[in-house]
Amino acid sequence: MAGRELVFAPLGGIGEIGMNLSIYGFGDGARRQWLIVDCGVSFASEEHLPGIDLILPDIRYLVEERRNILGLVLTHGHEDHMGALIDLWPRLNVPLFATPFTAALFEARRLSESGAPEIPVKVVPLGGRLTLGPFDVELINVAHSIPESNALAIRTPAGVVLHTGDWKIDPTPLIGAPTDQAKLAALGDEGVLALIGDSTNAVRDGRSPSESDVARTLAELIRTAPARVAVTTFASHVGRLRAVADAARAAGREVVVVGRAMERVVQVARETGYLDGVQDFRGVETYGYLPPDKVVALCTGSQGEPRAALARIAEDEHPEITLAKGDRVIFSSRTIPGNEKAVAGVINGLVAQGVEVVTDRDHLVHVTGHPRRAELLDMIGWVRPKILIPAHGEALHLAEHAKLARQAGVPHVLLCRNGDLVRITPEGAAIIDEVPSGRLYKDGALLVDAESRTVAARRRLSFAGMVSVALALSEKGALVADPEIELIGIPETDAAGRLMADIARDAVEETFETLPKPRRSDPDSVAEAVRRAVRSAIAERWNKKPICHVHVLVV
Ligand SMILES: [Zn+2]
Ligand SMILES: [Zn+2]
Repeated sequence: MAGRELVFAPLGGIGEIGMNLSIYGFGDGARRQWLIVDCGVSFASEEHLPGIDLILPDIRYLVEERRNILGLVLTHGHEDHMGALIDLWPRLNVPLFATPFTAALFEARRLSESGAPEIPVKVVPLGGRLTLGPFDVELINVAHSIPESNALAIRTPAGVVLHTGDWKIDPTPLIGAPTDQAKLAALGDEGVLALIGDSTNAVRDGRSPSESDVARTLAELIRTAPARVAVTTFASHVGRLRAVADAARAAGREVVVVGRAMERVVQVARETGYLDGVQDFRGVETYGYLPPDKVVALCTGSQGEPRAALARIAEDEHPEITLAKGDRVIFSSRTIPGNEKAVAGVINGLVAQGVEVVTDRDHLVHVTGHPRRAELLDMIGWVRPKILIPAHGEALHLAEHAKLARQAGVPHVLLCRNGDLVRITPEGAAIIDEVPSGRLYKDGALLVDAESRTVAARRRLSFAGMVSVALALSEKGALVADPEIELIGIPETDAAGRLMADIARDAVEETFETLPKPRRSDPDSVAEAVRRAVRSAIAERWNKKPICHVHVLVV
């Protein structure tokens, strides 16, 4: 049996929403061959990780196993599924597969980054099938919030696994075909060993509404708008862009696209046919010349991103786009947890300008791209897996998905964590080992290990500042000059009005004088004593302990 073992390991995406990367292995322990599914990023929040934009999965295990990797298949083009490739693919250099839209979007993203390496993508047709060693991978169309989302039916000599990717059921999506129920049910008839599935909306009852419902609301809101309309949504949501364009045309309005990421997606969608029949959009420079009731601005920035179009419009700082009292802004989006403050800031900026703001709190202007509970049950009913492993979700989502699957009669349900190596057999699934996993931070142009002290030090600095002390000692241990002291990010005076710099200076001098003679000539000993004294002298007045660096120079 050992030679025919099928294993699964998530290296990201479990216990979090983002950073999706799963691997499937086949063969005996020492000589497994691997299939990688997706390679995504997470977005960092400024408060927790100052200076860090992106979080990437740590792929050192895959780098080690590089020679045994047969390929990497992308389920779809969202950043949480392909956003880490530009940085990580060069470390692997393995064949990369994607459907036409995903491949084109990836290429456009790559070209937008200066100095990005060449990354060849092999294009797989929709519904296509590819053989990679023992893995026979079939793409099954699923509805989602970007064109060409695919579930993967992975057939191996040890059984079939369905990796759902991101999906929902939408009988009337605006672009692309609905979720391929027939193919999924046929796969169920064939027999599915394990389902590894999207858990994002497992806490939400019922079914998600259709994109067509949103299109109707948008058409009504655009038709009845008294003046200018701006709509913001996720840049890659081509179906939504199409809904806005159709609504604009019906209302006799031109569409102006504002924001680099959205321009890029529009171009890719035109090239791949997803905007066929949609009128040409106008350049942003025409906005100012169009009458207010003849224009719709499609903007980036639905998450309150400070550099995106909408935030700049809300601050009245956009070079081309202005809004005024009586104009209407529609957030055709959901605020991703963590972005609430930024989004509220943008909304407040708009409201202060007299702009009317419409969100999904008051109108059906957005629907999710992930399955709610009734949809999850449909999938289980079609596929009838022996094993279900919840993926793509935080702990609560995974637990709810697991509970639902048990209630639906799935014989084996397994909750696992990033780095768990899971053996999948007809008897069930079990965690048999752990593989190295973790996180990397994109810090400017560099990738740093999340375990390294860089970001923790930066967080401490941002919280309590730093004192730098320089001492010049003779070889015998006498101070040969006044200590140099510099305070960064520390209040200038204490509550009594004494200069913090003087407090630090006194602490240095006092420590030095009370230090036993033999220790004065030991630079390390001096540095440590001074460091402690300065920190506690400042903490006494401030109630916060800064970082303190002491440099001792023996002259
Ligand atoms: Zn997605
Ligand atoms: Zn996703």
